[in-house]
Amino acid sequence: MADNKSFAQQFIATPGKPFKLSKCDPRDASAFRDKDEAKADIEQDALKIDALQNRLYAEDKHALLVVLQGIDCSGKDGTVRAVFNTCGPIGVTNTSFKGPTPLELAHDYLWRVHQAVPAKGFIGVFNRSHYEDVLVVKVKKLASPEAIEKRYDEINHFEKMLSNNGTRILKFMLNISKDEQAERLRDRVATPEKRWKFNPADLEDRALWDDYMAAYETAITRCSTDHAPWHVIPADRNWVRNAAIARIVRETLEEMNPQFPEPKGWDPANVKIT
Ligand code: ADP
Repeated sequence: MADNKSFAQQFIATPGKPFKLSKCDPRDASAFRDKDEAKADIEQDALKIDALQNRLYAEDKHALLVVLQGIDCSGKDGTVRAVFNTCGPIGVTNTSFKGPTPLELAHDYLWRVHQAVPAKGFIGVFNRSHYEDVLVVKVKKLASPEAIEKRYDEINHFEKMLSNNGTRILKFMLNISKDEQAERLRDRVATPEKRWKFNPADLEDRALWDDYMAAYETAITRCSTDHAPWHVIPADRNWVRNAAIARIVRETLEEMNPQFPEPKGWDPANVKIT
């Protein structure tokens, strides 16, 4: 297994270099010795994330924003459950970005995103994000090419501003193969308890697979930065996806190293509770 320092590094799209999805195998499991070990790691990491989240909340100085992007069936919801369910609802927010409402469309595309950014002390998870505005919007031509072209720099500036103001940003692209998506879609249709997740419109997006992958490559190439790196996570196996993301989140929180604050204006030694 890779050492601590390089664990996240193996998934990061190098800032400033053209990124190619063809170099990333969605079935790659080489970051872990085996499935049992990885599953045990996820549970340990989830407990540590909970303890660190408690310190982040108490310290109240920084926030962590976790962006989850991926095509339908890539496992965004499953990741949230595996990595953040242990935390409970006190210090974690989860925002799912759907097609914009009329009110959202009446504003700039970052308006709704900025409002959902986690406050100091919180971990905020984005299930889809402002990247939809250079992904689905590009593929389905919902804005002009000129407007979309400007968005990469705008997004980089926006994320830099968040980072300058105390928000750490981790971005994860859940990389599944087209074959695996087909398997998962078939399973959704065949399993009564999963049918609610199936939307016939998902098949329209599937037909545009190559366009989506090209849009991801451009977004990752142009928006993987030192302050907000893109991690491309092999996601055909759920346990690899969950274990990799849990570990990167845990290590990032450890690096942020939030501290319980000292009492302000009172001395514990002088407090008498009768
Ligand atoms: P999910 O697939 O995330 O579980 P849905 O099935 O409701 O949830 O899909 C949300 C849909 O909203 C996706 O098809 C996504 O492309 C779309 N969407 C998100 N953001 C935007 C946006 N800015 N413009 C257009 N469509 C968007």
